[in-house]
Amino acid sequence: MYQDVLLHIGGKWRAAEGNKTLEILNPATEEVIGKLAHASKADLDEALDWAAKGFAVWRKMSAFERGKILRKTADILRERTPEIAKLMTQEQGKPLAEAKTELTVSADVIDWFAEEGRRAYGRVIPARTPGVYQLSVREPVGVVAGFTPWNFPVSQAVRKISAALAAGCAFILKGPEETPASCAELVRAYVDAGVPTGVVQIIFGVPAEISEHLIPHPTVRKISFTGSTPVGKHLAALAGKHMKRVTMELGGHAPAIVFDDADLDQAATVLAAAKFRNAGQVCVAPTRFLIQQGAYEPFLEKFIGKVQAIKLGNGLDEGTTMGPLANDRRVSAMESIIADAVSKGAKVRTGGKRAGNKGYFFEPTVLTDVTLEAKVMNEEPFGPLAAFMPFATYDEVVAEANRLDYGLASYAFTRNTRQAAALGADIEAGMVTINHNGLAMPETPFGGVKDSGYGSEGGAEGLEPYLVTKFVTQAGA
Ligand code: NAD
Repeated sequence: MYQDVLLHIGGKWRAAEGNKTLEILNPATEEVIGKLAHASKADLDEALDWAAKGFAVWRKMSAFERGKILRKTADILRERTPEIAKLMTQEQGKPLAEAKTELTVSADVIDWFAEEGRRAYGRVIPARTPGVYQLSVREPVGVVAGFTPWNFPVSQAVRKISAALAAGCAFILKGPEETPASCAELVRAYVDAGVPTGVVQIIFGVPAEISEHLIPHPTVRKISFTGSTPVGKHLAALAGKHMKRVTMELGGHAPAIVFDDADLDQAATVLAAAKFRNAGQVCVAPTRFLIQQGAYEPFLEKFIGKVQAIKLGNGLDEGTTMGPLANDRRVSAMESIIADAVSKGAKVRTGGKRAGNKGYFFEPTVLTDVTLEAKVMNEEPFGPLAAFMPFATYDEVVAEANRLDYGLASYAFTRNTRQAAALGADIEAGMVTINHNGLAMPETPFGGVKDSGYGSEGGAEGLEPYLVTKFVTQAGA
């Protein structure tokens, strides 16, 4: 059962000061399914006080003890996965199977950082004088303010919180107001596993008010944001003004390159799954389908076959493979991006419009004959839309792949190993996946370059943003 969602501040699950609330909608039915506590400035100040207290305790615990609590968190999340997945599907729309996978992978992320926190090694630097020890040690940066979006309510938050906690930091999370219950349940797993009071807290409210209060606050030493590039630039500027460290995981516009020599069946299967997962509301989703001339028609036909097999429906219904969009803003965005492309010469090969008259359902869509002037080739569509364009040569497709200011994920399919190696070097992106989809594993780096942001959220690199280096030099007394 979906229940009202509370704040977690100072070890208590509680309503906001003044009992202010926001409504939560189910995007498949447009019905109000619950209420969300809406934090005031006084609530934020209380969370900041508790975060400072929590940090003082947590940083003194050994990485070994912290790791034990994190591993217990992962076990709790696994046990509760069936119930939390249902909450996620009701508030976000994705099919139940996708919600369960998100939770399973999130538990693996916690386990990964539970271990990795024990490997925050420093160095002993050879000194110029006998009897002097020069140490480079890694310490937790302090209290972190994290801002996470509605597309992956648990997995966007878990990467930040787990890395921060493993490093010894305390975390205040501004969760996603439209998909709050599953994210709050993630926080409950850490709390129930025994993190000390104030180490993980969750608040909701007006995003701009919260970021403007938390980022400049002296208690907060680090900001981590996932969301759109314009908001990311705004928050990075605010953080810069107050000399706060920042991780930015922003938008993308992934090229999906298919060469004539590729295994077209495999490419169609992998790319259709990557495109329409979570109804395309994924920062690493392929968007620009750049297909070599000889493979263009056969690949398009195979891809359209996959698209037409997608079963659109309520994510709780058996057999649904794509749910509704998460909110009405995405429906109008899809309509306007498609209308713009068509006005500039594109053809709708399948889909192209809203489905049904209740819920934010949108047909999985393929556009061909798309021109570079169309918005879809320049702005992140963040929805179930694939734009096709043919290419002739390697140099031409690499130039197109690198044309935009985005640089998050990229996909390529070719049987030519020399060409595959060259793509790995030539594509300007934070992640390149060739002949399969191997992105976003707990143990591998995840992040972008250019306007897609900076900092990494996975792998050993994921711990770095939460650590600072201290130099200690000591001579005999
Ligand atoms: P939006 O730009 O209003 O918000 C994006 C995210 O930023 C949301 O989570 C929102 O709560 C947060 N946000 C907005 N203003 C903020 C502020 N001043 N301070 C702190 N947080 C703030 O757009 P939206 O309609 O919610 O999402 C649509 C766009 O956002 C998409 O087109 C996509 O580009 C981007 N997005 C990206 C990701 C991702 O995984 N990188 C996830 C969700 C949304």
